[in-house]
Amino acid sequence: MSDVTEKTPLQETGTISVSTENIFPIIKQSLYSEQEIFLRELISNAVDASQKLKYLSSTGEFEGEVGELEVGIAIDKEAKTLTVSDRGIGMNGEEVKKYINQVAFSGAEEFVNKFKDAAESEEIIGKFGLGFYSAFMVSDQVEVVTRSYREDDAAVRWTCDGSTSYTLEAGARADRGTDVILHLSEDALGYLEPSRIQTILNKYARFLPIPIKFEDKQINETEPIWRKKPTELTDEQYLDFFRTLYPMEEEPLFWIHLNVDFPFTLTGVLYFPKIKKDIDPRRNSIQLYSRQVFITDEVKDIVPDYLMLLQGVIDSPDIPLNVSRSYLQGDPNVKKISNYITKKVAGKLNELFKDDLEQFEQKWNDISVFVKYGMLTDEKFYDRAEKFCLLQNVDGEFFDLTTYREKIAPLQTDKDENVVYLYTTNKGQQDLYIQHAKSRHYDILEMDGVVDSHFIGHLERKFEKSRFTRVDADTLDKLIPKGEQGPDEGLILTEDQENRIKAIFEAAKPANMTVQLETLSAEELPVQITQPEFMRRMKEMAQLGGGMGMMGGMPDSFNLVINTRHPLIYGMIDKEDNAAEARQLVDLALLSQQMLKGENLTSFIRRSLNLLKEE
Ligand code: ADP
Repeated sequence: MSDVTEKTPLQETGTISVSTENIFPIIKQSLYSEQEIFLRELISNAVDASQKLKYLSSTGEFEGEVGELEVGIAIDKEAKTLTVSDRGIGMNGEEVKKYINQVAFSGAEEFVNKFKDAAESEEIIGKFGLGFYSAFMVSDQVEVVTRSYREDDAAVRWTCDGSTSYTLEAGARADRGTDVILHLSEDALGYLEPSRIQTILNKYARFLPIPIKFEDKQINETEPIWRKKPTELTDEQYLDFFRTLYPMEEEPLFWIHLNVDFPFTLTGVLYFPKIKKDIDPRRNSIQLYSRQVFITDEVKDIVPDYLMLLQGVIDSPDIPLNVSRSYLQGDPNVKKISNYITKKVAGKLNELFKDDLEQFEQKWNDISVFVKYGMLTDEKFYDRAEKFCLLQNVDGEFFDLTTYREKIAPLQTDKDENVVYLYTTNKGQQDLYIQHAKSRHYDILEMDGVVDSHFIGHLERKFEKSRFTRVDADTLDKLIPKGEQGPDEGLILTEDQENRIKAIFEAAKPANMTVQLETLSAEELPVQITQPEFMRRMKEMAQLGGGMGMMGGMPDSFNLVINTRHPLIYGMIDKEDNAAEARQLVDLALLSQQMLKGENLTSFIRRSLNLLKEE
């Protein structure tokens, strides 16, 4: 591929024949935001070269002294250079032509051809190693001084300014290995700042398998815990590792060590963080490595959404990084990897559930968001998690799904044979309704998590003959309709009497309420406010962005239920002046729903005080 235009034993200049003359500006521009990956690429090459040497030594092909293999990074502020050095296999002149001129440049060309039209190129590029060529993103000139591990090969020096011409000459180097010297361009002089280099090294090179030295210090740990055997590790080591990854975060609840060789290769450690009621989107999620080189911590599309709530490391050479994200989702390896992780995670949770239920219950509040989110979004995970998913009632007791159903079925089955699951979304606010439901020995679940409203809908679809109803969705008599007989004859009001009560409350009610007369049990309240389950959920869905724009804009609608069996109510029928009493009853109902606010609250308080004075 190289057209050598001039050749002496000592020096040659030539042109690299790539068909896109000017790939350099394209690459430089598109990689702008992730420019710093050049260092990751050069260090990876240096590490590869060192590992190859180790390998050749182990097979006997290289018989010399391996010595200390390390990769050095050095800054020379005066010369404005940044140098990456290794003691790996090195290259002879022919190899430089083959690997640098051909592989590196044609790799870059291929890269540009593949991605110059892709809309998402910005995003992909950073994840894709451009290899050696990325050095030109920050350099006016790149110099390679290298000497092969083969005794007979002489050292060579190669230089190039990123255009298609290069020089190759005899180099001054006594030892095996390679120096890549970047003559930084004017706009890249920031890389002469040690702190800048330190930051990049921390991000990409922390766990590389060959010692990386910068300013006389080794910055990496060559054998991170995910490469070790679980049996050789203590809990403290797992926690220490977590702290190195996420120094600012609360300790994890537990972890799993991933290790598989077939049908793909993957190692890693995943931590379960405490996930309180809300999901923090800024939280650090899983970091992805390929052979100990950091690739990205944006693992969307590589792991299922709910797994992004976990933290830790996945290392797999089998995750393709040089392809578009939409392709990734369909990639069979990515699918297999996801399934494997799902299986491991569910297995770990099931083990905790089976081995120590009490502990599992204690941790439940910290993992329930994760489990529910997983069940909602991953069918396979649902099937596994069904066994260990817990429900918690307002008394703080836990039940698995089957046990709970068995517990409530006798009392909470309605006339159509549906088991009615009662729940509260706010124990404090809905206390009155909870106490009422308890008076009938109903059980009430606490469902106040971020994903609970979705989770309820999901369980309703999964369970047969079941319904979830919030504890204040209807009057006590109707929460779980039993189809019992209506009230005694004597309690039925005439049409006139009904109209009169209706009129009294129509005058006293807030605008968004519908008056509804009911002959309820005597222990029910005289006036109460209910919001039908269906209406409330539609509203909530719309607010969560369920795409039902119209519902979102609609005002809440409530029922003002008047219990005509209550003595206070039927006592009003024959009274002359009952407006104030009606107002007071409506306000009490509003108060029990936390709906009495502002002026109305003030006047309620004043009125109540006056009532006390009168007595
Ligand atoms: P890749 O590493 O993906 O093959 P690169 O463009 O990074 O592509 O490198 C091209 C080739 O140049 C490498 O495959 C390797 O053979 C050679 N090379 C690059 N850097 C070094 C080095 N430090 N020591 C020895 N060989 C190297």
